[in-house]
Amino acid sequence: MTHQSALYIVPTPIGNLGDITQRALAVLADVDLIAAEDTRHSGKLLQHYGITTPLISYHDHSNASQAERIFAKILAGESVALISDAGTPLISDPGYRLVSAAREQGIVVVPLPGPCALIAALSAAGLPSDRFSFEGFPPAKTAARKNGFSALLHDPRTLIFYESSHRIDASLADMCEVFGSDRRCVVARELSKTFETFLEGSLAQVHAKVCDDANQRKGEFVVLLEGYSMPASEQEGQISAESERVLGVLLEELSVKQASSLAAKITGEKKNKLYQWALNRD
Ligand code: SAM
Repeated sequence: MTHQSALYIVPTPIGNLGDITQRALAVLADVDLIAAEDTRHSGKLLQHYGITTPLISYHDHSNASQAERIFAKILAGESVALISDAGTPLISDPGYRLVSAAREQGIVVVPLPGPCALIAALSAAGLPSDRFSFEGFPPAKTAARKNGFSALLHDPRTLIFYESSHRIDASLADMCEVFGSDRRCVVARELSKTFETFLEGSLAQVHAKVCDDANQRKGEFVVLLEGYSMPASEQEGQISAESERVLGVLLEELSVKQASSLAAKITGEKKNKLYQWALNRD
């Protein structure tokens, strides 16, 4: 064993088998045990790479003794790698409980960077990538799904969801209803595979493409939505949160005119704008 005794979190390909890293292969071949979400599925993958390391199954519903078995090995100086069926473990996949418990026991946890569908999709979607929120799979039932979407309606960050072929149509329909059919959307399908496709446009346009073509409902999906931005018509009378706070404090003691004038000097915001805002506020 050339690697440090630890729990290694190892991403595996999300489609294209060429996407495994050299470091991932080295760690998987070198550790004493691989804990996999589905040993049969991962067995085939490891066979493809000629890796013969013993496998055990691990998912977050595994009984505590499975985690204890893993920890006992690491505490005895051995190493264990955690893999899921595809992509990065813990990302809409098992592993959170294991990593959390490992850290509680002072076990070293080493993450390997690698394939992850949301990052691959975001890197090519052409939507703002400076801030984003990964929301995992939307709820399966329409009412819960719409509620979840409603809570995100005014989030300015790019929103990223995972979706399956069974629900892509219904999910996009609910998104149209809640976020409005004009919200910009990108659907990344079958990333790194033969039928990789990016559909982009307004939510209504993307939904129509998915409805019209049965092939576009096959495979695996990442749905990305542009974040909320306030319509220009509503922006006009708006002032910054800081101006609002300063003006609010001054208005407790001063007239609208005096408070606006002073707030303009403090915040740099236009006096007239502050004056109008102060007159219009409830
Ligand atoms: N751990 C994985 C990762 O790092 O992306 C995600 C596992 S989650 C159980 C599976 C979901 O990820 C799919 O339903 C789909 O939404 C998304 N996904 C995985 N592979 C994909 C691919 N090749 N193309 C598009 N989406 C994919």
